[in-house]
Amino acid sequence: MNAPVNPPPKPPAEPPVFATLGCRLNAYESEAMKALAAEAGAGRLVVVNTCAVTAEAVRKARQEIRRLHREHPGAAIVVTGCAAQTEAETFAAMPEVARVIGNHEKMQPATWAGLTPDLIGEGERVQVDDIMSVRETAAHLIDGFGTRARAYVQVQNGCDHRCTFCIIPYGRGNSRSVPAGVVVEQIRRLAGQGYNEVVLTGVDLTSWGADLPGAPRLGDLVRRILRLVPELPRLRISSIDSIEVDPALMEAIATEPRLMPHLHLSLQAGDDMILKRMKRRHLRDDAIRFCAEARRLRPDMVFGADIIAGFPTESEAMFENSLKLVSDCGLTWLHVFPFSARKGTPASRMPQLPGPVIRERAARLRAAGHAAAAAHLAEQVGRRHRVLMESARMGRTEQFAEVVFGTDQPVGAVVEAVIAGVEGERLVATG
Ligand code: SF4
Repeated sequence: MNAPVNPPPKPPAEPPVFATLGCRLNAYESEAMKALAAEAGAGRLVVVNTCAVTAEAVRKARQEIRRLHREHPGAAIVVTGCAAQTEAETFAAMPEVARVIGNHEKMQPATWAGLTPDLIGEGERVQVDDIMSVRETAAHLIDGFGTRARAYVQVQNGCDHRCTFCIIPYGRGNSRSVPAGVVVEQIRRLAGQGYNEVVLTGVDLTSWGADLPGAPRLGDLVRRILRLVPELPRLRISSIDSIEVDPALMEAIATEPRLMPHLHLSLQAGDDMILKRMKRRHLRDDAIRFCAEARRLRPDMVFGADIIAGFPTESEAMFENSLKLVSDCGLTWLHVFPFSARKGTPASRMPQLPGPVIRERAARLRAAGHAAAAAHLAEQVGRRHRVLMESARMGRTEQFAEVVFGTDQPVGAVVEAVIAGVEGERLVATG
């Protein structure tokens, strides 16, 4: 009797192509999804991890899907991320799209088990559940990141606030934290892989810990990481809400040289009436006071900030208050967002400003931002900086300024450099 013949092993499916749009949290999750896809043997896929922060972001997602569909004939297009979560029907209506997957589902191993070449044609085309019912963060430990320089680590997801212009809570659900032990383990693993810098990322970072036993605060997490991972040279915090910064974080800012002297603040406006209409938790004086105190504790501190131009009902005088905030807070890296009404948000139902006014104000804010950045860069000439190399000839200082080198440097290493000059919006290192 002939011995049973095992069917020849299936050739491994070529790994999915990932297109990541939007924030650092999406970048982290794409890394985790790559690992989940590999474990499940999912393949011949193009995964588009979308963003919904502005109408423009959603338009770009659709454009990207069409381009990738042309470039990868025969591959199944899987759309996920915040735009898939908030407007699944928009993507389900696209003939190019094989699957629409929600933000929670995208982090589940079972989802990827259904995305193998032989199964993708069978399952539900739209798998998007109620994100508000999600209570835990799907913590996936990753071993690496798309770059050799800096790794983003998710410590929190979702948001309990409801700023009137913001769609994010509807894409990411309510706030939930990754337990400190898991975060420390993740960072120890990345430091062990040779990463010299880790960036803590989330949606509303300063709410980290509120849902954990004992309600620890972000400052406690930062101090715990720096204590338990002494081999990590640089820890950076991504965007925070200055009004919610806790005393332990202020102390870490003052005493921990491995905590980078660079904070990106979610300020959004510089006028108290507009801040109220945005349902923000701070007033302009709170922001100015926070920046002055952080700089008193850490004189080399540099601030970035998000500011919206042209929020509904914003008068010229109110806008002037946002413009003046750049110098009143001493902001350096400005991210300017022309107001974009997001369907379903309270701000989309307020009286809108004309497009040309929004664009003109955004241009003035950007000009103020460029001037502030140029002043910071000019001050660095002649100074010595520790630079994390992102590529052979380009890196970033602790304050997040770009530095170009004339000779190759080891990628991912932290090198010392004396600044010889400024070239556009970059510093130039000697040698
Ligand atoms: S704090 Fe406000 S702006 Fe930030 S994610 Fe939450 S709702 Fe959106």
